[in-house]
Amino acid sequence: MVLVLTGENLKERGPLLSGGKVKVVEGGDTRLGSVLNGFRALSGDLEVVAVHDGARPLVSPATIRGTFTEALASGAAVAAVLAKDTLKEAVGGIVEATPDRARFWQAQTPQTYRRDVLADALERFGSERDATDESQLVEKAGHKVRIVPSSYDNLKITTPEDLVIAEALMKDRTGSSLDTRAGFGYDIHRLVEGRPMVISGTTLEHPKGPQGHSDGDVVLHAASDAVLGAIGAGEIGIAFPPSDPRFKGISSRRIVEFVLERVSEAGAELISLDVTIVAEEPKIKPHYAALKASLASAFSLPEGRVNLKAKSNEGLDAIGRGEAIACYAAASLRVPRSAAP
Ligand code: MG
Repeated sequence: MVLVLTGENLKERGPLLSGGKVKVVEGGDTRLGSVLNGFRALSGDLEVVAVHDGARPLVSPATIRGTFTEALASGAAVAAVLAKDTLKEAVGGIVEATPDRARFWQAQTPQTYRRDVLADALERFGSERDATDESQLVEKAGHKVRIVPSSYDNLKITTPEDLVIAEALMKDRTGSSLDTRAGFGYDIHRLVEGRPMVISGTTLEHPKGPQGHSDGDVVLHAASDAVLGAIGAGEIGIAFPPSDPRFKGISSRRIVEFVLERVSEAGAELISLDVTIVAEEPKIKPHYAALKASLASAFSLPEGRVNLKAKSNEGLDAIGRGEAIACYAAASLRVPRSAAP
């Protein structure tokens, strides 16, 4: 992909954006000049070339696919919408004609071409600097340009009110395509002498620590299972079986990294975590702030979206006798509707 940038954008963002599959080049002083610079920088093996305005961020995959399919079949395709308003042709403020609106389309981008078609048009008419899009050069060169019906929300953001409309459209799309899901997790580990007291991604001074194949961090384990639960991805024991010697003594932060990768693959977003530690010892309350900060950092969440609390078991059962430590966790995530029907 070639990204054509001008002025401040090129200076400030160019170095950040270039690399991988993206090449950044300098724009021209007109739209056509920018298209020419971008076209020259394309790699040689592309069969089809699409030109898109950076000011149209709301373009849908269907519109992009539509122009590619049509360009491959017929050579040139332009995304467009039918004119909504009645059109008037006027000279000096006086209406001279009211053309038939049904014949008028408003051109958008992407405008997509077979490479040879666009190359021919740019070579013959690329010096006509007042062309407002390159498809008119393609027409002039005698190629048929097909209309691909697009949608009105593929708007070009040029004035302040466009920004308000675009924000409303984006909010509407996000709201309608994501579900909020909850997940629940639980973990318990025996406390034994001589193990480090690893909890919530940090280590506390204590004569005992959780026994376990990994570092035995009940908070990160319960929270990880809660997160996997919300995306329907099972539990951490499947990916990190205690029988596998490769995972002996690993930091539970690695387990969390694995879990966050699954979240990202699912197109989901972690919103919040709430955990309850159950322990007779060590005393957790003096460490609330540190444990909360470290939990937030492990899951890359702002601290405001993490809650951590602790209960003793009132001297009852194994936890009450100080022989074990447990944790319950709840997670909420935004999950794409299509990925989790
Ligand atoms: Mg565990």
